[in-house]
Amino acid sequence: MTTNFLDGRVIVAVGDITEQDTHAIVNAANSTLLGGGGVDDAIHGKGGRAIYDECLKIRQTVYPGGLPTGKAVITPGGDLKARFVIHTVGPVYGMNGGRDAELLADCYFNSLALAAEKNLRSVAFPSISTGAFHYPKHEAARISSRAINDFLDLDDIVSEVRLVFFSESDARMFLKHQNFIAGPKTA
Ligand code: ADP
Repeated sequence: MTTNFLDGRVIVAVGDITEQDTHAIVNAANSTLLGGGGVDDAIHGKGGRAIYDECLKIRQTVYPGGLPTGKAVITPGGDLKARFVIHTVGPVYGMNGGRDAELLADCYFNSLALAAEKNLRSVAFPSISTGAFHYPKHEAARISSRAINDFLDLDDIVSEVRLVFFSESDARMFLKHQNFIAGPKTA
């Protein structure tokens, strides 16, 4: 099952983020940038040393205190099919003084802005913050879709945003609660 939105610029799919052949994949990282569980562990595990080494360099230079929530940085993709990994830190739900939604939207917007800046035309996202960080999936659907919509309205570089859900039920939950301006087209 794939469903498209915004004239095919957004594709909703079920799969494994580490297997995506987009120009970049997004990592649901934590602020250390040095590994964690879930998506982070899978990406570092499959991508190998090149990703870790660049993350370490970022920590030693631009972000010695860790990557702040909502911000994004880019590294090579190492052994992954994707040539680049964009690392972003989602909000831990309920721990941000009422700014959870704003910070989750920042993750999507800033990751896409970084992709466009590097001229990367296709980007795959996992469902940021909805695992270990406990963001309710229906709320995350509404916020992420609107942030992607807002970005694509302003941009003409990124031609494919692939939203990759780990299970069919997560994809269905997203489709039920998404808030794209244009309606879905199912193929
Ligand atoms: P966070 O810490 O931001 O919550 P997680 O990695 O714990 O990030 O989970 C984010 C989402 O990604 C969850 O919905 C989880 O089910 C999903 N997920 C976990 N592993 C993968 C994978 N290999 N590919 C795609 N999605 C995944």
